[in-house]
Amino acid sequence: MGDDQRRIPAGKRLPSAILAGVAVALTGAIWAIGWLPPLERTTGDLLLRASPSGDDREVPVVAILIDDEAVERYGPLPWSRARLAELVVASTASGALGIALDLILAESTDPETDQALTDALADVPVALAAAFDRNGSWLLPNESLGGASVAAHAYGEVGPDGVVRTIAATKQGRGLSLPALSLAAARFLRPELAIEPGAELRPEFRPAPQHIPSLSAASVLDGSYEPKEIAGRAVFIGISATGAGDQFVVPTGPRHEPVPGVLAHASATISITQGRLLRVPGPLWSLAAALLVAVGIQLIRDRRGAFDLAAFAAVAAGLILLAMAAIRFSLLLVPVTSLLTVAVASALLRETAESRSARRESGHLLKAVLEHVGATPSTVPRTAAGRLDALRRLQDRVLEEDATRRALLADMEEGVILWDVNGEVVLANPAAERLWGGMPELTEITQSFDDTNPLVLTRGRRHLAIGVTDLGRGHLAILRDVSAERTLEKRRREMQRLVSHELKTPLASIAGFGENLERYELSGDEQRRVASLIRGEAQRLQEMVTVFLDLEQLGGGHWDGAAEAIDLGQRVAARLEVLDAAAGVRQIIITPSIDSGCNVQAVPVLFDRVVDNLVGNAIKYTHSGDSIDVAVSRSTDQVCLVVRDHGPGIPEEGLARVFDRFYRLPGTEVTGAGLGLALVKEVVDWHGGCITIESEIGNGSAFTVSLPAIEEV
Ligand code: ADP
Repeated sequence: MGDDQRRIPAGKRLPSAILAGVAVALTGAIWAIGWLPPLERTTGDLLLRASPSGDDREVPVVAILIDDEAVERYGPLPWSRARLAELVVASTASGALGIALDLILAESTDPETDQALTDALADVPVALAAAFDRNGSWLLPNESLGGASVAAHAYGEVGPDGVVRTIAATKQGRGLSLPALSLAAARFLRPELAIEPGAELRPEFRPAPQHIPSLSAASVLDGSYEPKEIAGRAVFIGISATGAGDQFVVPTGPRHEPVPGVLAHASATISITQGRLLRVPGPLWSLAAALLVAVGIQLIRDRRGAFDLAAFAAVAAGLILLAMAAIRFSLLLVPVTSLLTVAVASALLRETAESRSARRESGHLLKAVLEHVGATPSTVPRTAAGRLDALRRLQDRVLEEDATRRALLADMEEGVILWDVNGEVVLANPAAERLWGGMPELTEITQSFDDTNPLVLTRGRRHLAIGVTDLGRGHLAILRDVSAERTLEKRRREMQRLVSHELKTPLASIAGFGENLERYELSGDEQRRVASLIRGEAQRLQEMVTVFLDLEQLGGGHWDGAAEAIDLGQRVAARLEVLDAAAGVRQIIITPSIDSGCNVQAVPVLFDRVVDNLVGNAIKYTHSGDSIDVAVSRSTDQVCLVVRDHGPGIPEEGLARVFDRFYRLPGTEVTGAGLGLALVKEVVDWHGGCITIESEIGNGSAFTVSLPAIEEV
């Protein structure tokens, strides 16, 4: 079974829009059942109480209350119309803009006193309360007072909880529709206000009824009031005495306590004149808002990956604050409550749908993985706890395998690097970085490829064999350090060369000389010459083999001799005495300059080879009669040996190669094997020193060997 067949498809999601639609339908249903209105009422009252009350100083309304004091002083209710007339006259005289009388004055009483009130009311705009009788007919103000023309209804719509929140702009009785008293009074202040028949007014009741400026009828009657309290205002006259007059509970009044109806009307009048009316949004508007927010909440949920209670609370709080700020213009109660329901319902629905699908998918996934790893039992546990347990076991196993793989990779001498299709490193072991000296880019390696795989690249002093495999989903490279193999191979070739070329020639000469001796009758002198030639060649062979073996030993790090503290100056001086003879043959003068105390840690015989080779070369490659300078000097931490000749010099391109084994400058006629300087370099390296050449064509060369100095010998 291929990998792809085991792969589980990604979890399916229900589109947010469908879920939001379902949630909105659910909200609509909740609304239709009638769960929302109580919630809406409570939230609305809360918002109303919490919303700013506005500037109440310039309230254009004043109430004259027939209160307990007035009743006590001027007698029980009903009062005579003459007394009411006094109140009206006083108000008019004080500059009232209009009078709203919240008293039902339907029947006619004493004609004289009726007339007094009629006269008093004739001078100002007036609105008089009317009410329904038992039969649903209007009890209109007495004809003499203006009858239906000044009548206004003094009702408020009482909600199921006993609170008045709405007032009908007009109310229909038998054959007659009357405006609300508060609306009629509002027209004293703003005559242009339209009366919309049948409209529902939702006043904010601001200021609250108990804060409406009021005067006791007693103070008006005895003249102890300030006329300016009435001037320029609409005057409401009504009863607040205990147990008399109508009483309302309004949202902004004291909680659960009725306030005098006249004050409630006065409060409503202010709301109406100031345009502080709440407008109830239509169901479509609410549903659209609900839909919008439901989709929004689902989107947030999708982004955050889960239903986040804190985020939801923040959104809800923000919406409520917004509603509070906007309360003067529109009532957001329905959307707010809808939103709460929508959000919770849709989120729950979403969670349920997703967790079901997640359970199903995770079951498939777990089963496939269990089968893949050959776990027993391979059946998927039914409970969430069981599944978690199975996952934990799988995780342990994966971690363990991962640790083993990492340990294996870490211990490997070969470097392993895995790149993905984008060339990003997915996996690499420490050896890869160590061998390459950093992390290679895939392109760095692939660019170097010709047709050979593995490819051998040189990084610093290392030779790396690199094999790259294209895996389709990425590339895998294996890096192997082949420096040691290369060195061995080089040595093998050098050995082959020594035997096949360098040793063959002198051996052939020796064989030739031997044959001569065998075949020909040679004179004593001739025999001696041939014998000396044979000895010379044999000696050369011997030297070459010795040097080669020394080189092998040093290069392979197998030199057995021990280093000891020597005075390099003395050692060089001793060698020069021997070398002087060879120099003398070519009339070459060696000029030494040797400091004392040039102490170094060295193997004496090896250093003799260095001096022999450097001075020997100088003698070999210098013209007869020239001079050679040999200096040994000491600085604080270094001892330097300089061998300078005045020979032909070494060209630039030769400088880098003269230390290679078997290398000889092209055109060099003097015999030699090209091994001397290679040995010198090996010896100096072995001692932890360094060797440099300065050379000028035609002017000679200077070889400088530096070694770390030591104090005492
Ligand atoms: P050999 O002298 O046996 O050829 P070496 O390793 O000593 O081998 O030297 C390598 C080559 O470097 C020589 O063949 C010669 O061409 C060049 N060389 C060495 N020393 C000198 C020198 N002092 N002046 C000029 N060329 C030199």
